[in-house]
Amino acid sequence: MVSLSTPLSKIQGIQTRFITKLKKLGIETVRDLIFHFPVRYEDFSHVYKIEELTPGSEVTITATVESIKSRNTWKRGLFMVEADLIDETGVIRATWFNQPYIKNVLQPGRSANFAGKVVQSKNTGEMYLSNPTYELVSEHSDHETKHTARIVPVYSETRGLTSKGLRFLIQPVLKRLEEIPEIFPADILESDDIPEVNEALQSIHFPETTDEALRARRRFAFEDLFFLQLKNISERIKLAEKNANKINVNIESVKSLIESLPFELTTSQKKSLWEIIQDIERPHPMNRLLQGDVGSGKTVIAGLAAHEVASAGFQSAFMAPTEILARQHYHTFLKLFPGYEHGIALLTASESRISYGNALESITKKPALIKEIASGNVKIIIGTHALIQKNVSFKNLAFVIVDEQHRFGVRQRAVLEQNEKITPHFLSMSATPIPRTLSLTLFGDLDLSLITELPKNRKPIITRIVMPDERTMTHQFIRDEVKNGRQVFVICPRIEKPEESDNAAWQQLQVRSVKEEHEKLSTKIFPDLSVEMLHGKMPAKEKESIMRAFSENKINILIATSVIEVGVDIPNATIMMIEGSERFGLAQLHQFRGRVGRAEHQSYCLLFTDSSSVTTKTRLRSLVEAKNGFELAEKDLKIRGPGEFMGEAQTGMPDLAMKAIQNPDLVKHAREVAQQILETDRTLKKNPLIREHLAEFRKDVHWE
Ligand code: ADP
Ligand code: MG
Repeated sequence: MVSLSTPLSKIQGIQTRFITKLKKLGIETVRDLIFHFPVRYEDFSHVYKIEELTPGSEVTITATVESIKSRNTWKRGLFMVEADLIDETGVIRATWFNQPYIKNVLQPGRSANFAGKVVQSKNTGEMYLSNPTYELVSEHSDHETKHTARIVPVYSETRGLTSKGLRFLIQPVLKRLEEIPEIFPADILESDDIPEVNEALQSIHFPETTDEALRARRRFAFEDLFFLQLKNISERIKLAEKNANKINVNIESVKSLIESLPFELTTSQKKSLWEIIQDIERPHPMNRLLQGDVGSGKTVIAGLAAHEVASAGFQSAFMAPTEILARQHYHTFLKLFPGYEHGIALLTASESRISYGNALESITKKPALIKEIASGNVKIIIGTHALIQKNVSFKNLAFVIVDEQHRFGVRQRAVLEQNEKITPHFLSMSATPIPRTLSLTLFGDLDLSLITELPKNRKPIITRIVMPDERTMTHQFIRDEVKNGRQVFVICPRIEKPEESDNAAWQQLQVRSVKEEHEKLSTKIFPDLSVEMLHGKMPAKEKESIMRAFSENKINILIATSVIEVGVDIPNATIMMIEGSERFGLAQLHQFRGRVGRAEHQSYCLLFTDSSSVTTKTRLRSLVEAKNGFELAEKDLKIRGPGEFMGEAQTGMPDLAMKAIQNPDLVKHAREVAQQILETDRTLKKNPLIREHLAEFRKDVHWE
């Protein structure tokens, strides 16, 4: 018998070379191995007679090797093994490439199962089995098959570990695995027809039927969702018990502040601000996600809240993902609160600035600014991750705003808790439109505020797919817009042309690059206009001066990489032109599009593509049709699945749970069960197995 914690190296019969390969995949124990689930299955369960075979089908046959030979194919320089296989109904040929050892195993007279695809030769019209998996079977044993005559698991194959190899390893381990305890109470399993764990492990790897495999997958998805929820809910409870600074908000002063803005807040902006204010008035930390489509005006809401926190005498930190955005927010705040006497500062790796009252900004050296922050003099501090470096400490940080980062890590958050007694209020802002089920699962520990409408002055952005022959026309259009005083973004998928040494496939794709495009547009097409470029490899100073010049309308056309994907606010820009648009995800394209249409001018998003593929067109068309990010997100989620949609790395979600998110009932049930268990057993003392599992789960799921 083996247990879950048995190291694979302690199991007899597993060759050391496998142990090494598995280790590279992070598989070291029995648990790791059997929780390495198949990605799909192949149905070879029906065993056919040779005379029944038809071209194109995937089959298993039981046959005897009549003859077998190997040769080098002169055409492709491959080593080929060919065998004639017979049963009582006929004969069929099987071929394998580059597996010379097969000749030693499948000697004439041997019986075996062969599973694979029946192919019809173009030259002779004869049928043959192409590269079938074989499995020796002795007639007198009731030995269970692994690779043939059943539904066969297919694993993601990495670094020399084939599905066949994994089946060889997993099947005997599963057979010898001691019974493992079920973590869920029986009534929970029953209420949702969820199979018990031992059964589910067996059937996720070696199911008798497709249904059985699906049920097993559902169980493990439920388990992951359950632990996600359990983690979220218990974190929520823990946070609610912590202390935070209670901010006394003067409603009258908020009202007059809102009156002083150059525009009227939308209803949902007001509602969101109100929700935030109510939260920060409590002595326990707020933990809130402010979600709103690009351009919906999240920054001003955060700013108003920070303003109130400062009036109450406390500090706020506003963290942006890039220096460009941090600087932009800094300038936005200076504009929103002219003559602001409590101080607004900017701290990034390359800049430190501070501004009090009407004294125009006093440029500070970094150490001086850090001192100002520590003394508590400056109340609103905007920056990048530089804000959570060790050398920065706050006097009385009460409010933290995090812009456009999907998950602000628990660890990073801890850095901002200046003392154990007080936890700052947290506001996370995101334009990534996350469908409801997904956000409940991923952000179940957060309260949600939604900005559901765009400011009134906006006209819908006109989006067009532009084919290569319409390029010249577009250039004229751009010229006209610029003549009217507007500005243009051009996005390219790459910074520069690939080196000669880069693989040829890339070159063939003719991906447009920022540098080439800049060269072409600035010298040939718009020599009379100001055309500049911006990309991540430029020094921070240069990026800044380009962005500044662009925001002051000293540049007409800005060619950039995805560096300007999120947050950049240039209300005067009206054309967003995207080269190679098929190379970007829909959510990303929507973000690009959100860079224009930020004021009253009619704006345009032009999607250039050289691809004539139908799927590309369909995908791009959904961007043309979708009016807002949420609509698009639902579509994208359907087309690509949640992993692709969010980017696996960003979510850190277990695979199965990711897929299961498209099943809202399962999500809901997992949430209810988690709630139910925590209600009666807060510390999970009565459910030690679940508690243990949760600890493991926290280790496995990385949020940062
Ligand atoms: P996002 O939600 O994408 O971060 P921003 O906060 O950058 O959006 O706001 C987009 C633009 O809209 C900014 O120029 C901002 O000043 C402006 N804005 C914000 N709220 C309103 C409003 N209620 N009416 C008009 N313009 C607004
Ligand atoms: Mg923003």
